[in-house]
This record gives sequence, structure tokens and C-alpha cells, in this order.
Amino acid sequence: MQNLSDPAVIKDILTRHGFTFSKKLGQNFLINPSVCPKIAEMGGAKEGSGIIEIGPGIGVLTHELCQRADKVVAIELDSRLLPILSETLSEHDNLKIINADVMEVDLKNLISEEFPGMSVSVCANLPYYITSPVVMKLLGDRLPIDTVTTMVQREAAERLCAPVGTREAGAVTVAVDFYSEAKKLFNVSRGSFMPSPAVDSAVIQLKLREKTPEVSSEREFFRIVKALFTQRRKTVLNALSGAVGVDKDRARTILSELDISPETRPERLKMDDLIGITESIIKTAGVLDSPA
Ligand code: SAM
Repeated sequence: MQNLSDPAVIKDILTRHGFTFSKKLGQNFLINPSVCPKIAEMGGAKEGSGIIEIGPGIGVLTHELCQRADKVVAIELDSRLLPILSETLSEHDNLKIINADVMEVDLKNLISEEFPGMSVSVCANLPYYITSPVVMKLLGDRLPIDTVTTMVQREAAERLCAPVGTREAGAVTVAVDFYSEAKKLFNVSRGSFMPSPAVDSAVIQLKLREKTPEVSSEREFFRIVKALFTQRRKTVLNALSGAVGVDKDRARTILSELDISPETRPERLKMDDLIGITESIIKTAGVLDSPA
């Protein structure tokens, strides 16, 4: 097995295959040898487990996953990497590579076809340009997975793992907290990648909740949360009557019934406050999700 963390080895492989990095696809490959074994071990790659990897690159993390898990399915968009992966990972017979955009893959179907009866987790060094959409897809599709362990930009890690109701939290934080328990595992410096990106990174882990908070309409809940966070530094009264579109008197009544000061900033609202606001609005407007 070639040492896929060694810059000289990587350069040799890439040159032989005439490969050049695509900035657009977020191609920064890991060269710090301590990082991938840690992601694989903390990410649940072990006997009896199945792992979905997003964006294998030249296979440095994939190799660690294949060594530990029963089966790995890696989804890579860039078809130029396929011949490279066939070379670098030829020793593994528990690996399937799918050449596709992860956003287009029916992951529920993939899990039932590829991992019957197995506990499944996701591990990735995600391309940063699609961190939030991928995280939302993994959580919002209610996939039967245990954890998502992934590298993200340091700033995104702080935001995704911030407690709801703090300045660092955004609408995406609320969504992450709704579906999972998020924690930062460890920091990774920019020098750990080739080419080196302009920002530092961190590995986070999202442990999916068995039971998510109860809300009559998830769609309406996230619509309201998103609207409130577009006016996160205004008062909740103004955000409700502005971005969310609730009549101002009604908004005042809702807040008073929930014991929330109308002067509160939306970013300071806790999960229970956001759910309470949603339920009050639904009660008035009678909005419900249509059955799936
Ligand atoms: N796992 C490798 C590593 O750690 O060295 C590569 C990580 S690199 C940050 C991100 C990888 O995701 C690249 O291989 C890139 O081609 C791939 N990628 C980018 N967009 C993608 C998408 N929409 N679906 C699947 N893979 C994608």
C-alpha cells in the first residue's frame, strides 16, 4: 500500500494520471497522517459497520475506513479520480465507488441496498462549498444512520456545534440540534492539506437523535426559523411581524403567552421557544405537513 499521506507519493500519483486540483470541487487532500485514522476510529468504522464516505479524493481516508469497517461505499463526483482510486485502493474488496454528485444520490435506497442489517455511519472530509446542503440532506432525509463524522471549516464547526440560543448559532445550528447532538472532536490546521486552504478546519460529529423534538409541521418550523434568523439582530416582535409575516398584535399575544420578551433577539431564542412560536402560529393558521 502506498503512503497516501506522503506529499511526494501524492505528487507522483497525480502526475502519472495527469490530474490537477479543482478548486471548484473543494479538492484539498489530507496529508497529515494522524487525521484519517482518527476520523475512521471515532467515526464508527469497525467490525459489523458500514460506512458511506463522501468525496474520497485519492483514497487516503477511504483506506483507513476499509481497514476497519465491513463495507465502505464512497461517492465521488470527479470522474478523473476513478482510475486513481482503482490504483490506490486495489487491495480492498469491501469497497464500492459510486461516481455521482452526493446531492443527487438517493441515500435511503443506497443504505437499504448496500448495507442490509448493518449499522451505518457517514465519514467525510467534505468539500466546503456544499457543507451545509450535505449536512441538511444527511439529517433532514431521516436516514437510518448513527453518526456523521466530518471535516468542516473551523468557522462552520463553531456554528454547527454552537448551543441554540447563543450568538454563534444560526438557522443551520437549529436544524442540526433538532436532528442530532453535535460536538467538535478536534481541530485540524490548514497545513494538514495539499494544497493548503486559506482557512483552518475541524472534525465534528453529529449523533443522530432517536427521537427528534415534537412539532406539528417540520416544514413550517424550519420556514419560521429561517425567516427569524434573517432578522436575527432585530427584536423577535419585529422579526415575527416582518420576515415571518405574523400580524403584530397576534405576534405580541404569542410572545406574551410563551413568556418571551418582545425585545428578545431571535438568535437568543431556545429550541423550546422556537417550537412554541411555531405551534402558536400553526394553531392560528392551521398549517400541517401533508402526509409523506
Ligand atoms: N477524502 C479526501 C481527502 O481527505 O484527502 C478528499 C477530500 S476533498 C476536501 C473533497 C472531495 O469531494 C474531492 O475528492 C471532490 O472531488 C469531492 N466532491 C466535490 N463535490 C462533490 C459532490 N458534490 N459529490 C461527491 N463528491 C464531491
